[in-house]
Amino acid sequence: MAEQKRDYYEVLGVAKDASDEDIKKAYRKLAKKYHPDMNPGDKNAEAKFKEASEAYAILSDADKRRQYDQFGHAAFDGTGGFGGFDFNASDFGDIFGDLFGDFFGGGRRGPANGPMKGTNVRTSVRITFLEAVTGVEKEITLSLKDPCPTCSGTGAKPGTTPQMCPKCGGKGQVVFTQQSFFGTVRNVQTCPDCGGSGKIIKDKCTQCGGSGYISSKKTIKVSIPAGIDNGQSVRIRDKGEPGVNGGPRGDLLVEVIVEPHPVFLRQDYDIFSTVHISYAMAALGGSVVIDTVDGKVIYDVKPGTQSATRIRLGNKGVPTIRNNAIRGDHYVTLVIETPTKLSKEAKELLRQFDALTGDSLGEAARVSEEGGVAKEHAKDNSKKKKFWKN
Ligand SMILES: [Zn+2]
Ligand SMILES: [Zn+2]
Repeated sequence: MAEQKRDYYEVLGVAKDASDEDIKKAYRKLAKKYHPDMNPGDKNAEAKFKEASEAYAILSDADKRRQYDQFGHAAFDGTGGFGGFDFNASDFGDIFGDLFGDFFGGGRRGPANGPMKGTNVRTSVRITFLEAVTGVEKEITLSLKDPCPTCSGTGAKPGTTPQMCPKCGGKGQVVFTQQSFFGTVRNVQTCPDCGGSGKIIKDKCTQCGGSGYISSKKTIKVSIPAGIDNGQSVRIRDKGEPGVNGGPRGDLLVEVIVEPHPVFLRQDYDIFSTVHISYAMAALGGSVVIDTVDGKVIYDVKPGTQSATRIRLGNKGVPTIRNNAIRGDHYVTLVIETPTKLSKEAKELLRQFDALTGDSLGEAARVSEEGGVAKEHAKDNSKKKKFWKN
């Protein structure tokens, strides 16, 4: 075996004459940093953890440390000395106790069998554009878990009680050991026998099959506030899955899907729409009826209005969720509609009108007579597209 191993003192970052306490402290720091549970999937961290664990196994044992001081790595390489080394649970018991005590105490991860909030449940509801403006109450039906009434959520047949899991001693987690080149490595995992509950049920409740929960269809009222926008969610507390080991229920998150409106378009709290007016109205002015979320509004179009003129109807937009009295605006774009079906008489009147207001129809003929201008006809390109499709 090639001896490229780093010096154990170097690995732990301690002096040759370090005290047991210093060695322990140094290892504790490294183990915490590189523990596989804290670095899932990180091979480098895993290697560092193994290296530090090996160094600690040797240096924390007075006999092994003496051997190592005398013979170096050769003391443990299988050809002499101890013939390899083995970690016993006692080598690490207190260290890992400290270590995981810290992890758990820090709130990063609770013990598997402690009270935990239930999982949040997600669902969605469709509402109309106008319901989003006014707010609406909806009823949704979904399947929700409840603690089983027969066994009160224990999962055990009435008259029996769940036993403490012998594998993990009720902790819900097991430390399992793995043999590797470096020796024995310890990992903490959810107990495979009890699935982390810390309990084993011998006689399962027949109603719930031992799960402790039964699902049933529930109808829940959802108050959707005025101003809600597509994709936003309403949270209903305590309507999610039941908590574990006495923890609170999760929440129900209802995503609101707002159907598009044929006329209104929404952006934040403003509403946009388009109203078509005739050329005559744009030129002469007049009254136009505009649909708003509050109903119809009559708007006076000024004489000489240009196409694409945008008008603002203040406070006719969507109410803000926070304060329904504060609303967005409604913007209306006035589009001048060009007539497509004209009677003979109407056409003649338009020609007369054109002649009176600038003779745009005669302009091209005049320019053409002056010469030097190429003639282009408006072409219908739609037929060409057929070839491109193939
Ligand atoms: Zn049950
Ligand atoms: Zn267990």
